[in-house]
Parts: sequence; C-alpha cells; structure tokens
Amino acid sequence: MMACPLDPEILVFIMEPEGGLERRFELSHAFSVYGSNVPGPFIVIDARLQRQPWFTEDHLLVLIAHELAHILRFSPDELQADLLAMRLLLEAGYLGAYALLREEHQRRLDSNWYERPVAA
Ligand SMILES: [Zn+2]
Repeated sequence: MMACPLDPEILVFIMEPEGGLERRFELSHAFSVYGSNVPGPFIVIDARLQRQPWFTEDHLLVLIAHELAHILRFSPDELQADLLAMRLLLEAGYLGAYALLREEHQRRLDSNWYERPVAA
C-alpha cells in the first residue's frame, strides 16, 4: 500500500490477482473504488504489471493519475478521466508519464476507444 503521489489522501493498493480480484483484473489492470457509500476512495493496481519488463514508474503514474481522475470527477467517463489525468501529471511535473498518457490518449481517440460500450 502507498499514498497516491498525486493526492496523499488517496491510498493505492498494489494487489495480486487472488481472493476474487482475478475476475476484476480481467476487465482492467487498475480500477478505483469510490462513491457516496465509500468513505475513503482508493485505487487498486494489478501487481503482475510490475513484473512486466516494459512496465516503468511512468506507467504506474499514468494508471494512478487515470484512476485518481475517476475519483475526483466522481465519474466513470474515460475521456474525462484521461483529460484530467494528463492535467494532473503535467501540473505535478511528471513529464514522462504525461507524455505516455498523451500518446495513449491519441491512440484511444484514433481507435474510437472512448466510444466502446464497456468502460473499465
Ligand atoms: Zn478508467
């Protein structure tokens, strides 16, 4: 567990896919838990990502920023989450992560990913 580097009030749990999380991680390798019935919103990240050779601290920051944006917007909207996440990363000076997310955002625009039926 760690505090979110972009918002220390939010906790980030890096979890192995067990205890029911296996199926949740099939939808997405990261998700946020928030809502009017959740007193302390938090972020969950699939621990297997950190064992991927391509996975860097910047990738982790992108995931965290995206999930934090869902929490701050109180919304599952993926386009809005990416736009806010890019702003958060830029304002915090995480330029490598910002560049990664900007590229991913462009790919998502080009492939109509934001219009897909199931968001995660
Ligand atoms: Zn999302």
